[in-house]
Amino acid sequence: SKIKEGLKKTRKGFVSQITNLFSSSSSIDEEFFEELEDILIGADVGVDTTMKIVEQIKERINEEKIKDPQDVDEILKEEVLNMLHFDSDEREVDDSLKVTLIVGVNGAGKTTSIGKLANRYKQNDQKVLLAAADTFRAAAIDQLKIWGDRVGVDVIRHQEGSDPAAVVYDGLQAARARKVDHLICDTAGRLHNKKNLMDELNKISRVIDRELGHPPHEVLLVLDATTGQNALNQAKLFSEVTPVSGIVLTKLDGTAKGGIVLALADELKLPIKYIGVGEGINDLQDFVSEQFVDALFS
Ligand code: GDP
Repeated sequence: SKIKEGLKKTRKGFVSQITNLFSSSSSIDEEFFEELEDILIGADVGVDTTMKIVEQIKERINEEKIKDPQDVDEILKEEVLNMLHFDSDEREVDDSLKVTLIVGVNGAGKTTSIGKLANRYKQNDQKVLLAAADTFRAAAIDQLKIWGDRVGVDVIRHQEGSDPAAVVYDGLQAARARKVDHLICDTAGRLHNKKNLMDELNKISRVIDRELGHPPHEVLLVLDATTGQNALNQAKLFSEVTPVSGIVLTKLDGTAKGGIVLALADELKLPIKYIGVGEGINDLQDFVSEQFVDALFS
């Protein structure tokens, strides 16, 4: 599958280390657990999440009186799956217009993900409009326009340096006038200036709130999987600045670690909604925990 292909590096890296550990260990002892911890931490799972997983595995090994290291494989898979499972908390609204705000630092893959998302909606016969509310960089506006042209959707844009909230306002008006199903808004990702970022996102949110009568349907935080624990820190910061509803984890194809998926789910309690597994227009996949774990371990 596409997901399996996208996880090739992680499968060869992190997952094969684990498989080797399970098949080469002669017994389940302290050394076995230490090695397991090292592998998980080395794969960006993070110290806290690693400790939690290993504790749970230890408990189950005791309870179920497991002696064979090979049998730990199944337990690990189940624990990983548990960690990645989120009850769907989709905002159940029958609004004709859905609005998604895309946030994240520059370079994380915002523009690319917006293009891919727009393409997906379009393939599902939805009418899509994009709003270029990252007005801080001229390149960001241009890039979004390039993606819009590629996918065949319009882009509402103003000049560089103009008010991002005004772009979103225009996007909302145009979306209504054109009977659009889905408006996706790009935003600037100046994390080094937290105050500005907060002001900007708040202002955009207020405009959406006023126009829709409620917050945006989705606020998706785009994170680069290859940045590992740094992505986790970014996620924490963004969550403080704006109510994030889900994560788009990009460039999973570019890492041999992939454990960041677990750290994000465990530490942030935020669902991963999509994963990026390549640069192409079709390389954005739904994140379904069962599929993901299957692709990872089989
Ligand atoms: P932005 O600054 O956040 O808008 O980032 P861009 O969308 O411009 O993406 C930055 C770079 O990451 C570009 O070269 C993209 O092609 C690349 N990219 C984005 N998503 C993925 C992905 O899932 N896999 C890979 N391999 N590259 C990606």
